[in-house]
Amino acid sequence: MSPRETERILAFDREHIWHPYAPIPATVPVHPVVSAKGVRLTLADGTELIDGMSSWWAAVHGYGHPELDAAVTGQLGRMAHVMFGGLTHPPAVRLAERLVEITPEPLTKVFFADSGSVAVEVAIKMAMQYWRSQGRPERHRLLTVRGGYHGDTFGDMAVCDPVNGMHHLFSDVLARHVFAPPPPLGYSAEPDRAYLDELSRLAAAHAHELAGIIVEPIVQGAGGMRFYAPEYLRALRDIADEHGLLLVLDEIATGFGRTGELWGCDHAEVAPDIMCLGKALTGGYMTMAVTLCTDRVAHGITSGEAGVLMHGPTYMANPLAAAVASASIDLLMSRDWRDEVDTIEAILSSGLGGAAELPGVADVRVLGAIGVVEAREPVDVPAVQKLAMDHGVWLRPFGKLIYAMPPYVCTEDEVDHIAAAMWAIAESL
Ligand SMILES: *Cc1c(COP(=O)(O)O)cnc(C)c1O
Repeated sequence: MSPRETERILAFDREHIWHPYAPIPATVPVHPVVSAKGVRLTLADGTELIDGMSSWWAAVHGYGHPELDAAVTGQLGRMAHVMFGGLTHPPAVRLAERLVEITPEPLTKVFFADSGSVAVEVAIKMAMQYWRSQGRPERHRLLTVRGGYHGDTFGDMAVCDPVNGMHHLFSDVLARHVFAPPPPLGYSAEPDRAYLDELSRLAAAHAHELAGIIVEPIVQGAGGMRFYAPEYLRALRDIADEHGLLLVLDEIATGFGRTGELWGCDHAEVAPDIMCLGKALTGGYMTMAVTLCTDRVAHGITSGEAGVLMHGPTYMANPLAAAVASASIDLLMSRDWRDEVDTIEAILSSGLGGAAELPGVADVRVLGAIGVVEAREPVDVPAVQKLAMDHGVWLRPFGKLIYAMPPYVCTEDEVDHIAAAMWAIAESL
């Protein structure tokens, strides 16, 4: 692209296009990408960057993968989309079969949503409709933990962290749920008895008005990139069982191997009643998410007054997205993804280990293919991004967090580059 054309595009973008969590007109630069192949993004001026973010957890196989490209173009030759009301199609059925097979056993029913946020909305609606069907409409609140992130729509925002989730902006219109303190930090930390008691106490105190519990298993993503011990997730499963609550696990970020297990809940060997998947579902190709539930939840909803689940997006089960999602799952299962994730974990751990001693760094943590450097103060995003780009790496920090979740297909050398960029940033703080 000519420098003139690039300038024109950027000028229009700045004035007219909203970017995530950004003002308009923009106050910080965005970078024009013209193509992506393998794990590299190519910018308009020809610069190549190793993508340390997998386009927000999604592009686990990298970009332009021949098998995923073929799944999309093959399906495109048959049909791009048809409505899902009164119709069905092979890509949707194949994907649902595959999801029922690879997710925890009690999950048998599949709802296709068009984004992660909608999948969480549907999960919340399922939990509420379930209790309405039982003749207990007053059980409509959710128990969750602080530090969570579940999406940007109003139902979801109400279960996001009340401070960084910006509840104060909308406090008059958001549903009021029950918040426990954030799970204590540390995947391997000894479980804190006092914390477990607090969870039990809150659940018992509110059980009569609770529909369920919603959390991200093991890794809290956009709410703070915090890892917690499997023991807490097991405790939430027990608490849910004790009070008849539905356990909703938002695996939109953690799913498909990112944490070193296929599902975050596998770390705790528990299964949810309702599970949300998204992000890596389509290997980063198209927007699609799903909400799975058990027979008990589905039957509960269907036996109620409405008799149906009251949701149905226009682009539900989009065939292109479903086809590429099935291909992405096949690809993941055909490779030794566990070994790839373990290798990334080992390189990020050794590459970032010593950074915790640096003066500007509060904490360093690595789990699976996720590496996090937490600064003591909020970082200057454009400056930090520039430093990463000088190292040939694309990173997108937020708040105090500089983090990476590389595509699983990165070579050791490429992960080294990502770790080196993060180290340079840590040193500069
Ligand atoms: C990204 C994310 C969502 C929202 O998904 P979108 O596709 O961005 O709507 C919900 N929950 C978790 C845990 C996420 O990481």
